[in-house]
Amino acid sequence: MPRFRITYDRGNCVAAGACAAVDDVHFAINAKDGKADLVGGREVKPGIFELEVDSDELARHAESVCPAAVISVKKISD
Ligand code: SF4
Repeated sequence: MPRFRITYDRGNCVAAGACAAVDDVHFAINAKDGKADLVGGREVKPGIFELEVDSDELARHAESVCPAAVISVKKISD
């Protein structure tokens, strides 16, 4: 089964909210600062979060609508 990695640069999120509107499985708006949280993600560097998933469909939608281009989705195995 293919695996994908979502990488999210939370530090540069501009709190637009578009990601969570199209992918509420992986992105949730944090009520404190209005930025998105990557649900279940782990912080791999300060402000950079990653999450590995089996399906990229929703996350690629989020990637495509983020005006700050802080979401990326890559295939990591076949
Ligand atoms: S769409 Fe992009 S800028 Fe807007 S909340 Fe989501 S990650 Fe942040």
